[in-house]
Amino acid sequence: MKTIIIGGGLGGLSAATTLAAHGEETILFEKNEHFGGKMKSIDIDGYHFDFGPNTITMPYVFEDILRMGGMDKTLTYRLLDVHTRNQFPDGTIFDLSSDRNYMMEQLKSFDQKGWKTYDRFLQDITKLFRTSYSSFLSRAFTSKRDYISFSLLKDTINVRPLMSMDRFFHSYFTSPYVRMALNRYATYVGSDPYRAPATFAMIAYLELMEGVYYVEGGNTKIAEAMTRAATNAGARLHAGTEVKSLVQAKDHIRGVVLENGEYVEADHVIINGDIGQTLPALLGEKQPTYDPSISAFVILAGLDASLPLHHHHLLFSDDYKKEFAELKAGRYSDDPTIYISTSRKSDPAVSPNGDNCFILVNAPPGQEIDADEYKQLIYDKLHRNGIRVSSHIQTESIWTPQDIETRFSSFRGALYGPSVNNKKQAFLRPRNKSDRFRNLYFAGGSTHPGGGSPIVTLSGQNVANHILGILTET
Ligand SMILES: Cc1cc2nc3c(=O)[nH]c(=O)nc-3n(C[C@H](O)[C@H](O)[C@H](O)COP(=O)(O)OP(=O)(O)OC[C@H]3O[C@@H](n4cnc5c(N)ncnc54)[C@H](O)[C@@H]3O)c2cc1C
Repeated sequence: MKTIIIGGGLGGLSAATTLAAHGEETILFEKNEHFGGKMKSIDIDGYHFDFGPNTITMPYVFEDILRMGGMDKTLTYRLLDVHTRNQFPDGTIFDLSSDRNYMMEQLKSFDQKGWKTYDRFLQDITKLFRTSYSSFLSRAFTSKRDYISFSLLKDTINVRPLMSMDRFFHSYFTSPYVRMALNRYATYVGSDPYRAPATFAMIAYLELMEGVYYVEGGNTKIAEAMTRAATNAGARLHAGTEVKSLVQAKDHIRGVVLENGEYVEADHVIINGDIGQTLPALLGEKQPTYDPSISAFVILAGLDASLPLHHHHLLFSDDYKKEFAELKAGRYSDDPTIYISTSRKSDPAVSPNGDNCFILVNAPPGQEIDADEYKQLIYDKLHRNGIRVSSHIQTESIWTPQDIETRFSSFRGALYGPSVNNKKQAFLRPRNKSDRFRNLYFAGGSTHPGGGSPIVTLSGQNVANHILGILTET
């Protein structure tokens, strides 16, 4: 049996490795010159940047795939003790860490309720994660029946689908600083904490219980290792090769046509590209109307200095709720929360000449802005808060939602496929199998179970296991 995979993001590479390691003939086509999709290494003037995933969780998910291609234990994952520094407009600092005692010390000084409830909070988010993992994350959703089983319904109720993330955090913490720091987890699935269901508080479990990791040499080493694992397992990977269309028979896909006009037959086809953008383009149909997750305005700035920044550093806005209301209305915030990842703080060798700042601000999907003006607004805010990036710039590159859309064929530049703001989209994510074509599958951030580097890796593995007939834990 022969499987064609369209797209070499982490989801595509994971599916390719799993299928090839089980003896399936597997061919992957990627339109860009690099594999890894949004996880992209960018090297400019001696500065290394990890575009895309800067925050890495669940390393065991990557290791599972790498093992199949003989590449496990080739990466060095470093657990970041105090992984995220949250800085607020009045200068208050609240850090996030998987060290419970460190968290308790901080909570004791400015959130007495949180200090008392923290252990219960950790237990509750652990339950949320475990239920989500066994019911949603570890298997492909291929038919409507998958959404209506009794056990899933029971589990869905246990993951509090009707409460918002913000309400959930409210029930444990009184400090607005603590709640803002935790609410930001909604953005990890491209959503709004005031609307996204509490289910996604499970992300707090990953960061506060399991921890945040960094891969020595840059997180993009994960994509490199997965590419080698897929090749070692026997998959044939083609970069710089866009698939232009799907050749349809009545109820199945016969094969694909490449940009040079070549026709390649297949028994199964997996689309790893964003469903909202790639599927209609390949079928010559209209784009869907779903609500995409948020996009990003990104500045890669190489500096000639080492600034007082943490590896993961946040500078919050005055009014976090207003910021999400602006994004919802399709506007860029004039007081955005700014995220800066400077991997040099943990790994000086990746950027010997000075800080390598990956600066990200949430952006409304599909909306453009004057990039120079908005960059200046971001630099001015950083400057006012003692982070003098603009006086030290040696090299700079800006990415807007349009660039993200063009480069990765991502619907309206969304980072994580459809948003999970409305409950229907959160729990009825596009399934992993087509309704119309019996041999067409989907893997990656725009399908089940969702976005984020480990989750898309699971998505690819789940789809491959489904094709192989391997049952996964439910
Ligand atoms: C700025 C930014 C910050 C992020 N931060 C984090 C983070 O800190 N932590 C985290 O875990 N995740 C983060 N993410 C999300 C993470 O990068 C994605 O969820 C994940 O990498 C998506 O993987 P994917 O398999 O869905 O495919 P993608 O990476 O979207 O890759 C799909 C591939 O398909 C290719 N393709 C599409 N159509 C065709 C075609 N017709 N022919 C051939 N190829 C095609 C595209 O070129 C692309 O390479 C971030 C993303 C971005 C953009």
